[in-house]
Amino acid sequence: MKNTLVLRMGALMMVMGGLWLGNSQQPGLTVEKIADDLHVIVGNGGNVAVFTTDDGLILVDDKFEKDVPEILAKVKAISTKPIRYIINTHHHGDHTGGNQKMMEANAGLEIVQHKNAREKMVAGKMPGIPRLTFGSETAIHLGGKEVRAYYFGRGHTNGDITVLFPAHRVMHLGDMFNTGGPFIDYAGGGSGVEWTKSIYNALKLEADTVIPGHGPISKKADLAAWNAKFETLRNRMQTLKKQGKSKEDAIAAIQVDDLGWGVPGLKQRALPGLFDEL
Ligand SMILES: [Zn+2]
Repeated sequence: MKNTLVLRMGALMMVMGGLWLGNSQQPGLTVEKIADDLHVIVGNGGNVAVFTTDDGLILVDDKFEKDVPEILAKVKAISTKPIRYIINTHHHGDHTGGNQKMMEANAGLEIVQHKNAREKMVAGKMPGIPRLTFGSETAIHLGGKEVRAYYFGRGHTNGDITVLFPAHRVMHLGDMFNTGGPFIDYAGGGSGVEWTKSIYNALKLEADTVIPGHGPISKKADLAAWNAKFETLRNRMQTLKKQGKSKEDAIAAIQVDDLGWGVPGLKQRALPGLFDEL
């Protein structure tokens, strides 16, 4: 009798706990380790890579401004060396929102991004605009280690880059790889036609592990499969358009359930623009 009551109370507590978690706005950030000198800070905003060298740290992206204190605490638990560089994968606020506070907190910190991403930040009067940009390719050499960054073309925006950690065969694709499905930011210069070509270029890099902008750490095969699904989606839309369907009818008719992506978001944030682009 007593045991049954304990079990019932336990079940009730679990339900309440679940409800509480479900309503929680700030689940907190967690750290995943890829190697002794390469970690990923996951949660709330884009995935942040933390690369450690004897001469300081290189980060990829910095989430929202409000995440900076927690990012700094997580980074400090990994290494007490100063943050020397941050590479922004693109201009969106869930990847660059921490730029300004990061610069204020780390004297001498330089932030690097693609020149198109900087143009978007300037145009949008976004805080934390970097001093350094590049066009097709750049590299940072720090503490005897190397990080490379490549621009492979348009996709999520017109300023997304791929960051490669050659020693670990790991690449960070920002929102060019969102495991929840593609968001084509047409106002940000994005392209659903160019996107998959850009991914084919990224797939040529010598890497095995892929850090997505949002979602769990993945393998190169996962990125290839994701890209193939994107092509399937685009081909379906092309077919519907060729059949003479209106944009509304095509979006209503297109099959997306089998792709495993967040369907309502996909229909709002990718398909109308894709129909127009095709
Ligand atoms: Zn984005």
